[in-house]
Amino acid sequence: MEITYKYYEIDVNSQKIEQVNTLEEAQELVENIKKENSEDIDLSIVEKYTQNEEEIQTKGIEVAKNEIQERIKEINKQKEIEEKDKQIPSINGIKLALKPVTGTISSRYGSSSSLRKSTHTGLDIAAPSGTPIKVVSDGTVVFSNYNGSYGNLIKVDHGNGVETWYAHTSKMYVSVGQKVTAGDIIAAVGTTGNSTGAHLHLEIRINGQHVNPQNYLYK
Ligand SMILES: [Zn+2]
Repeated sequence: MEITYKYYEIDVNSQKIEQVNTLEEAQELVENIKKENSEDIDLSIVEKYTQNEEEIQTKGIEVAKNEIQERIKEINKQKEIEEKDKQIPSINGIKLALKPVTGTISSRYGSSSSLRKSTHTGLDIAAPSGTPIKVVSDGTVVFSNYNGSYGNLIKVDHGNGVETWYAHTSKMYVSVGQKVTAGDIIAAVGTTGNSTGAHLHLEIRINGQHVNPQNYLYK
């Protein structure tokens, strides 16, 4: 005659975590865990039957509790990482991890000025001359040279048709073909080219078309 064993499984977010012997233990465990966690954690008790004794790995309530708490900590950590990740703006799947400089917006995208023939193709951020300029995302330098009204200009290709341009720089620290990582200092703020004061002209291009940088950064 086969013996049927009964035990109780505790599931956290539908994932099997622990087994205990009795329903009372399972209920006590769930109660205790709920009391200690303000977070919204989905805990359920599942009654299980088996004729295979090896499937049973029941544990004492304290051991089970510690292991469930550990699992909840992991879940919360993962949630935090996902939340942070969601806050990073992205274009065509390219994450813009940071602002290239901190400063004051001195001219917005699309504005007109007597200095320019057409409307503004980028965003101007005023900052003292020499302020380090950081690249906003990983990529490859595709231009690093003087270029007319842009002055000293650096263009970085991030893939998926996304480029960022950094203009009017006083110093350029990277050369064409160089791989850069988000946060690397690639240039210094200046006022070269068609410029009346130290600032960074930041331009974001998608498949060659300039877009409003404030859709992504300096919102
Ligand atoms: Zn500008």
